[in-house]
Amino acid sequence: MTLGEWYQATLLPTSEKRGFLCHFLGLTQIQTLTRKDLVLSENEIHYLSEAVRRRLDGEPFPYIVGTQEFFSRPFFVNPSVLIPRPDTECLIEWLIDHIPKNAKAADLGTGSGCIAITLKLERPDLEVIATDISGDALAIAKKNAENLGAEIKFYQGDWLKAIPADESFDVIVSNPPYIDQHDEHLKQLTFEPISALTDHGNGLSCIEAIYSQASALQEKPSVIAIEHGWDQGSAVRQLAEKNSFKGAQTLRDYGGNDRFTVWTE
Ligand code: GLN
Repeated sequence: MTLGEWYQATLLPTSEKRGFLCHFLGLTQIQTLTRKDLVLSENEIHYLSEAVRRRLDGEPFPYIVGTQEFFSRPFFVNPSVLIPRPDTECLIEWLIDHIPKNAKAADLGTGSGCIAITLKLERPDLEVIATDISGDALAIAKKNAENLGAEIKFYQGDWLKAIPADESFDVIVSNPPYIDQHDEHLKQLTFEPISALTDHGNGLSCIEAIYSQASALQEKPSVIAIEHGWDQGSAVRQLAEKNSFKGAQTLRDYGGNDRFTVWTE
């Protein structure tokens, strides 16, 4: 079978077909178009067929190839971490513009490490620490930090409690699990870690834990930025207010939906 024949016979979006060819055959994007007469080996056909089968079973493309691009950089992903979403790039853009110079930022529930690592690479003046309760997630985040050359300190544990008391910081950022346990969307997200998606409650308990732990800190942070659901803006602002972070604002994602609540001193 030639590459062209495989391409013709495979019922997947063009970008995914090209992505598999690049990944499994080591081709460039251009070569997937110019080398249609390349004869595929038995092995290559086996790997491609297996990948297509998994994809048609609904497994997300990034888990099959093992990477996802975020802020124009490749991040390793596996089923222990949430796949980085383009919407989270909006949060990064806001942070790049609003974090004070030489500040120290803590990314809570770092998952693949996409927020912490991108922040450090875009703002090398910052010191960045990252936490996650999952050891498997931290292993991926550390691998990404090393691969992309970002110096980050990692701690395992529950939100702010993961960070040792002598490690003070100015900025808190998080994309916590915020989907309501009854949300229909969860049924379509079966391949991603459930603990990264929902708090098994109304979706607000992790956000509440972050604000309440932040308000108990000896040294109050100067910036708190949290990602949340499109319909959670007013509830999240109320949680901020309740924990004495007054005047928080909700910002929109690329789709025009409420997505981040930010508070600055
Ligand atoms: N911080 C990571 C991200 O934004 C993981 C988020 C999560 O697992 N809820 O992708």
